[in-house]
Amino acid sequence: MTNALGYLQTQLEDLEQQGLRLRIRTLEDTQGARCRFDGRDVINLASNNYLGLCGDPRMREAAARAAEEFGAGSGAVRSIAGTMSLHRELERRFAAFKGAEAALMFPSGFAANAGTVAAILTREDVIVSDELNHASIIDGARLSRAEIKVFPHRDVEAADKLLAETKGEGRNQLLITDGVFSMDGDIAPLPGLVEAAERHSAIMMIDDAHASGVLGENGKGTVSHYGLDPKRVDIQVGTLSKAIGALGGFIAGPAHLVEWLQNRGRPFIFSTSAPPAVAAACIKALDILEQEPQRVAQLWERTRFFKEGLERLGFDTGSSQTPITPVIAGEASTAQQLSELLWEEGVFTPAVVFPTVAKDRARVRTIVTADHAELDLQRALESFERVGRKLGLV
Ligand code: PMP
Repeated sequence: MTNALGYLQTQLEDLEQQGLRLRIRTLEDTQGARCRFDGRDVINLASNNYLGLCGDPRMREAAARAAEEFGAGSGAVRSIAGTMSLHRELERRFAAFKGAEAALMFPSGFAANAGTVAAILTREDVIVSDELNHASIIDGARLSRAEIKVFPHRDVEAADKLLAETKGEGRNQLLITDGVFSMDGDIAPLPGLVEAAERHSAIMMIDDAHASGVLGENGKGTVSHYGLDPKRVDIQVGTLSKAIGALGGFIAGPAHLVEWLQNRGRPFIFSTSAPPAVAAACIKALDILEQEPQRVAQLWERTRFFKEGLERLGFDTGSSQTPITPVIAGEASTAQQLSELLWEEGVFTPAVVFPTVAKDRARVRTIVTADHAELDLQRALESFERVGRKLGLV
């Protein structure tokens, strides 16, 4: 073996010194509000399991039954031999859930964003994108080779101005935003963005990874949260990996967009489709969402309890409006310490540092789920108070 990769070791050591080297914990349990990581039982404020569906007995049963009936894997990419009736059923269900004509499943939410943006634009076109949009949107934008214009976070006027400035004959424009921003937990100003897109005949696309199952009627997402007509948003992206409790991504939109992506969406064409167990579990999750709106209500009740507790203690929680509440520490090393001390108290909230967030806005990110017991949230708040005082954050 040569040492041709030796430079990476040096770079890892640099990351370590800057407090930017990631530490990955191992879950030895079912994902849940209380579970065991690295041999320690903790109150888990780290997952995206918003509705507690990852371990729901009905989801397990649906997955097990599909594996029994249809096998472990799909055996091919969607466009060759890997489209199963379960995938089709899930797509019909998601289209209805999002109020769209059609939907298409991708291997992940990342692939749904990146694959769609890259497939619908060319170097002649322009993307107008919120500065805090997810990495998968940024990568898709780069892959598309379109011109990329970034507007300040949630600034509708700036987005409108960029659309006006970049207009051109035959030039397609895409206005794109996260629905809920993953590191800050705030919500996109969708009504204003939709109006701007309409004014300039731009494509409106929203990434509802953290909004599906969380915002709006029965967790339908940001469009429903604002009471907008779903027809006014051309493309709604969702993930099946967070509130839906399994794995995968999807887009919902007009039928001809779905057909285009079946022909030109590279992750759809070149990556194997989800195993039947995953598709069946997602269908079950949609049943549960429709039948149990109280789950979403419970998620919000717990969220309010915890968020108000953090604010009362005096932590900087940024501009969060959703179950994602950051506790901003500033320097990466302080965020790492905060996370580590909380871990020692039995509370798991990972540090989030540059490049995921700005260098001076390092934080721990907390996510409350519908399954968190109020008593556990109270305990977590007490730990936050002790540790926060120790680090001079409150
Ligand atoms: N968009 C956003 C805003 C996300 O937070 C994530 C997950 N980190 C994704 C897309 C990607 O979804 P998935 O994990 O299903 O690939």
